[in-house]
Amino acid sequence: KLFNELQELKGNIRVFCRVRPFLPGQGAPNTVVEYVGEDGELVVTNPTKPGKDGLRKFRFNKVYSPAATQAEVFTDIKPLVRSVLDGFNVCIFAYGQTGSGKTYTMTGPDGASEEDWGVNYRALNDLFKISQSRKGNINYEVGVQMVEIYNEQVLDLLSDDIVVFLFTLTLHTLGILSTISQNGLAVPDASMYPVKSTSDVITLMDIGLQNRSVGATAMNERSSRSHSIVTVHVRGKDMKTGSVLYGNLHLVDLAGSERVDRSEVKGDRLREAQHINKSLSSLGDVIFSLASKSSHIPYRNSKLTQLLQSSLGGQAKTLMFVQLNPDAISYSESMSTLKFAERVS
Ligand code: ADP
Ligand code: MG
Repeated sequence: KLFNELQELKGNIRVFCRVRPFLPGQGAPNTVVEYVGEDGELVVTNPTKPGKDGLRKFRFNKVYSPAATQAEVFTDIKPLVRSVLDGFNVCIFAYGQTGSGKTYTMTGPDGASEEDWGVNYRALNDLFKISQSRKGNINYEVGVQMVEIYNEQVLDLLSDDIVVFLFTLTLHTLGILSTISQNGLAVPDASMYPVKSTSDVITLMDIGLQNRSVGATAMNERSSRSHSIVTVHVRGKDMKTGSVLYGNLHLVDLAGSERVDRSEVKGDRLREAQHINKSLSSLGDVIFSLASKSSHIPYRNSKLTQLLQSSLGGQAKTLMFVQLNPDAISYSESMSTLKFAERVS
């Protein structure tokens, strides 16, 4: 409790670390990550340095063991998600190397059943549930945008033509609502759709995911090199006083944080790697500056931080899921992920 209160004072930045389980067919598990416990500790062992010298201890607001379920994770972030209905801006990120479970945490596994749903679906589902229960006192409208940042360019994943092309019938009842957020759209040019239920959201996210793959030869490859952002805009009208509040929630599945060996890649691949590097380090710089209450916050250094500016800092709340692969092969990537996280927490 006390730790959480201190964290509040530190500028509303929380870091939760989630360790992925070993996957079937990965061979004999050889773990270097040890989950320590309730108090947010994690111990990592250097596979080439057995014994005490190879141990490093990290501490975060929360550490999840590989056995943690999607439901458990969501329970912990529910208050944060719900604060959007009270007019707060919230950003939730997943950071880590490719294959560490970012998409699993944010969206869920491919073709997820309700039980496997990630943060995105659960958050929207919960927002609808709570807004329903407040109906009559506060009436809410909810709108969704979905974009991808690839090579410092923002792409609308719900652009009209493709939406119409792919899902004309399904989306028949959804019109575009452009005025839901008066306090500055995060992505002025990206299409926004009003949503009334979780199934509307599922439809839209399916479109976004399909759209993400259009034109990409290898979807998984591509998706690990771009950031995808689902933005939820909420407008609530108090029916007694007539006052209106706005909140928004950004759900961000970041590009893979793995280092690329410059001597081994050229051309497009090198350019992608440089863009990713730049945007992830800019994000780190922004969060670090916020946490250390610096007077200058370097939002302008990347598209990612520019786009999220209104939801980073000020009254906004930020949560970073730091994702880890448990295996020995990933040791050095895990260490660089943990160092990034340590800096911003
Ligand atoms: P990333 O998005 O970071 O590249 P993914 O989310 O695609 O990683 O995860 C890689 C693989 O591991 C996927 O097959 C995913 O379903 C699986 N996975 C990740 N996290 C978990 C988890 N907590 N429990 C079970 N399987 C997981
Ligand atoms: Mg992914």
